[in-house]
Amino acid sequence: MHRYYVNRTPCPDGVHEVHRADCPFVPFVRQELGLHRHCVTALETAQRHYPHSRGCFWCSKACHSSAQAGEAVGKRNRRRIGPRRLPAAHG
Ligand SMILES: [Zn+2]
Repeated sequence: MHRYYVNRTPCPDGVHEVHRADCPFVPFVRQELGLHRHCVTALETAQRHYPHSRGCFWCSKACHSSAQAGEAVGKRNRRRIGPRRLPAAHG
């Protein structure tokens, strides 16, 4: 189990980062999230305070990337590929 914190000061893009207690980037202005076995549950707790939260790239990389992947899944471009028939003109 590790103690987790969320940065009370958002990043320039408005996202609050979640850090493990032993991370070198734990911010001074922080809110404690309690003890968690994995960053996923810590992130859930952080999102109750700050809906736009994500794991720190350094200490909670699994949660850092999953937050971005979740957004990308919804934006999937679908291309319709089908036979296109051109009207044959007989003159
Ligand atoms: Zn961190």
